[in-house]
Amino acid sequence: MKFCHGPREACGVFGVFGHKDAAKLTYFGLYALQHRGQESTGIVSSAGKSIHEHKGMGLVPDIFNNQALNELSGDIAVGHVRYSTTGSSVAKNAQPFVASHEGKTLAIAHNGNLTNAKELRNKLEKKGSIFQTTMDSEIIVHLLTHHSKMGLEEALVKTLGKLQGAYSCALMTKDKLIAFRDPNGFRPLCLGLLDEGYIVASETCALDLIEAQHIRDIDPGEILIIGEDELKSIKPFPERRKTFCIFEYIYFARPDSTIFGQNVYAVRKRLGKKMAQEYSIDADFAMPFPDSGNYAAIGFCQESGIPLEMGVIRNHYVGRTFIEPVQSMRDFEVKVKLNPVKEILNQKRVVIVEDSIVRATTSKMRIKTLREAGAWEIHMVISCPPLKHPCYYGIDFSTKGELIASDHSVEEIKNFIGLDSLCYLSLPGMLEATGLDQDSFCLACFNGKYPIQPKEGFSKFHLEF
Ligand code: 5GP
Ligand code: MG
Repeated sequence: MKFCHGPREACGVFGVFGHKDAAKLTYFGLYALQHRGQESTGIVSSAGKSIHEHKGMGLVPDIFNNQALNELSGDIAVGHVRYSTTGSSVAKNAQPFVASHEGKTLAIAHNGNLTNAKELRNKLEKKGSIFQTTMDSEIIVHLLTHHSKMGLEEALVKTLGKLQGAYSCALMTKDKLIAFRDPNGFRPLCLGLLDEGYIVASETCALDLIEAQHIRDIDPGEILIIGEDELKSIKPFPERRKTFCIFEYIYFARPDSTIFGQNVYAVRKRLGKKMAQEYSIDADFAMPFPDSGNYAAIGFCQESGIPLEMGVIRNHYVGRTFIEPVQSMRDFEVKVKLNPVKEILNQKRVVIVEDSIVRATTSKMRIKTLREAGAWEIHMVISCPPLKHPCYYGIDFSTKGELIASDHSVEEIKNFIGLDSLCYLSLPGMLEATGLDQDSFCLACFNGKYPIQPKEGFSKFHLEF
């Protein structure tokens, strides 16, 4: 089973330089980043002269086994987890993307969306480039090869200078690992140290698992080149206002990660606390839909004094494909993942603390099962303002049509879901809860103010392939 809404180009990246267990560490890094993409995964390693790759459609533990990891020899590796649309959900679009040019091989793992992908690709194709995939990440590699005469560093500066949009990347050559992040810093990317080796990862939870030390984040606009005798950081582009993705805090990142300088769990708890300050609701208890709503619910309960209960129980072993349920099993899709506890819910007035509403279809089904379990009143508080605008930078609420708040009022959404009341956290409340400067975020999905306007052809490129 999978949600048919949600991020479509959301991804996780991981890289290792200078460690004998590079591929195995990458495997575990990707394992920790699995929440960032479940559609496909891959690892590419370098043993100096030879490059090895292994990719496939599916979850990390399903794609790699001991033999595959042993064959990924060498002390440099990059890896990727990816979530994509059905249309582009094909094996050739699995990353890292590998290409050879004039005897040099590159592998790239990319998180984010380029907003001028179509324009860049058209230009490259006019010059004779032949693309193997429909991913915007391939464009980066083509541009690099076009500038290869200049040497790697210059080629990187030239190439990144042409990119617009969001990119947090780990790039590998046969003897280097390069990490780079767009000047806006939309997606997270951090640097770690393990023994003598360097690690690059989307989130710090991946460093924790392999017991690497978090040194710092890769800065927005930074290119970090890691080689045998060099660790070189350059920032060749003019400084820009940082626009971190606030949805990473609300939903996407793991709560045990620290991104953009703040622990995600702590931010979510403060979001919950803010909601309790903004709305007072008379209820017997509050509950999350686990796991995404858990942390805001804790903050909400601690601040409001309303007791916390777990009114639904999550099955942690739900896979992605199913035998069709038998006809008498109503609400199978919801109940298989979250089963209401009748003894807790019966005749109670309940507040659901939820991280976000996208299409509202899941929420509607869940609320129905709570009513059937006997809940008398159901109120819902959402830890962010209404999601009204599509994301062009890697959390792909692909079209407005998929966002109920784009064309429905809060009252209409409340009625659609079947709630007694529905409250969204205010924009200032949400910003305050992050603990960062208000100006450091991209808020486009809430206010439609896009830090970088997508170029013509963006939707076609990203949504139709
Ligand atoms: P809805 O009621 O809008 O259909 O679904 C809301 C639920 O989806 C919430 O529990 C929220 O945690 C989850 N959610 C929010 N954003 C995303 C996303 O981008 N992908 C997935 N798979 N779930 C999401
Ligand atoms: Mg959820």
